[in-house]
Amino acid sequence: MNLTARHAERLTRFLVQSENGCLLWTGATYGGGRYGHFKVKAGEHAAAHRVAWLLAGREIPEGMQVLHNCPGGDNPLCCNVDHLWLGTMHDNMRDRREKGRCARHGSLLPWGVNRQVGRFGARAWDGRKTVWLGSFSTAEEAGKVAAAARLEFDRRRFGDDYKAGNADD
Ligand SMILES: [Zn+2]
Repeated sequence: MNLTARHAERLTRFLVQSENGCLLWTGATYGGGRYGHFKVKAGEHAAAHRVAWLLAGREIPEGMQVLHNCPGGDNPLCCNVDHLWLGTMHDNMRDRREKGRCARHGSLLPWGVNRQVGRFGARAWDGRKTVWLGSFSTAEEAGKVAAAARLEFDRRRFGDDYKAGNADD
């Protein structure tokens, strides 16, 4: 995909910010209105969040997908690169499974956090297995630990040229 400043300008023009910090695509969509439909050039289209990822100078290695992790619940129309992460198809399915479990429990928890008896457990995927990071008294605390670990694991998996987002955001 050959992206220029004009693409960046057009992407920005179609984005509105939500209260959760999501940058929602307001242009054409596909997948039943789920994903932003961005026209790169005549005959070439891409998902808006993938375009946002590439415009931020990040890469999409072969076999990897740009996945969502929005603080208020996943929003496939979101193009905020701080809400996006790289994963395999396998990561994507596992992520959906885990989030589905959170949703069933009626609570919205940060990525990598699960509720325990009076505590919040943190874990992160290191590319081969889920690593247990301990339990914390607040979901925020557990979420920070999980996010930091995920960032570190991603760096190890994808190398130093992996331009990770700001973990504190
Ligand atoms: Zn978002």
